[in-house]
Amino acid sequence: MKKLALHWQIIIGLTLGLVYGIIAAGNGWGSFTSDWIAPFGTIFMSLLKLIAVPLVLASLITGVASLSDLKKLSRIGGKTIGIYVSTTAVAVTIGLVSVNVLQPGDKVPDQMKEKLQQTYKEDASARAGSAQNVKNRGPLQPIVDMVPSNFFSSASSNRNMLQVVFVAIFVGIGLIQIPKDKGKPVLDFFEGLNDVVIKLVDLIMLMAPVGVFALIAQTINKIAGDDLSQVLELLGALGYYMIAVILGLIIHAGITYNGLLKFMSKMPLKTFYKGIAPAQLLAFSTSSSGATLPVTMDCCEEELGVSEEVSSFVLPLGATINMDGTALYQAVAAVFIAQTLGMGLGIGAQLTIILTAVLASIGTAAVPGAGIIMLVIILEAVSVPSAGIALILGVDRILDMMRTVVNVTGDASIAVIVADSEGQLAIPNNS
Ligand code: ASP
Repeated sequence: MKKLALHWQIIIGLTLGLVYGIIAAGNGWGSFTSDWIAPFGTIFMSLLKLIAVPLVLASLITGVASLSDLKKLSRIGGKTIGIYVSTTAVAVTIGLVSVNVLQPGDKVPDQMKEKLQQTYKEDASARAGSAQNVKNRGPLQPIVDMVPSNFFSSASSNRNMLQVVFVAIFVGIGLIQIPKDKGKPVLDFFEGLNDVVIKLVDLIMLMAPVGVFALIAQTINKIAGDDLSQVLELLGALGYYMIAVILGLIIHAGITYNGLLKFMSKMPLKTFYKGIAPAQLLAFSTSSSGATLPVTMDCCEEELGVSEEVSSFVLPLGATINMDGTALYQAVAAVFIAQTLGMGLGIGAQLTIILTAVLASIGTAAVPGAGIIMLVIILEAVSVPSAGIALILGVDRILDMMRTVVNVTGDASIAVIVADSEGQLAIPNNS
């Protein structure tokens, strides 16, 4: 019997997780779900995160070392960062248009506004506190942060992926510049490590349907607790806000990415979406582009034909700095909060949002819920009280799942475009 394609296996896990989650919330099975189901999701997430650092390190070192000259590296780098930043600016603009046209802030009943502010007050101030640490830093701090003083401490946290990327490129450059016979043992080691890690991705993905089932079940458990009616009330009150975000995300993926793929690469859209589906589904289930990274790389290389040289550079960088979905959501959320609090934002403030959202999304960690922390910085830049995030916290996880899908789709689209522009895209025949 033919084995079911991976994306179908994940879709089945996801659907069953959804059905189970709703039944569990309706029957008060919250603690059973936390004790007996959630751990499988945690194990799955941990396995993915476990291989992210070695994968980036090994594939990037071998990728850079295989480049014949450094000019090529800076050309690919410049192109990648240029497209990343411009697509993010487009995403924020789409978000702003969506929220200004739909005006979701005017549609929240006054009584609900107060209730939301009360319920999420403490949670909101905790997040505002985390944002303060980020805010009190100088303008060049992000660049300073990229250069670690000790490699082992950067490799010890997945939040430091950009530092690992930096070290890998640096080591790769060193390897190009020493005699080939001297560099060979080091390169052989990293090539071997790379093959092992790629094999591990396949092994971990055997667990994907179960892992995704558990992750979705636990997410619903956390959002709904044992009371589904509360969620329905929230969805009702914040429905228009969610529509503004989701519509923006769909337009960005449908027009920006599809347009770029169509006009700047020879990749058929059907092949692209079929190939990248496992990574998108995983992004949705984990809400983490960092945890999804190994699978994104695997899909791009195996299913879309992006060369390892390009994917090992473009994708880890994208997972850390390119977050179009997050930036779009931050723009919608900032204006929505201002609208709800009865504060109009003029054109100057909206331009400030474009600039700060692009910068904030670069600084957002590729983990669940990071986007809402950086939102505080955007709110402060346009003088909207950060306590306002209490208004949107209740539905943030659901939007996080969706914006993470867009973040990952953006990284993969740009990997395809960069690969094609370098003559390094070999679309497999079987697709
Ligand atoms: N969860 C998102 C990601 O990992 C970041 C965010 O918007 O919270 O891409």
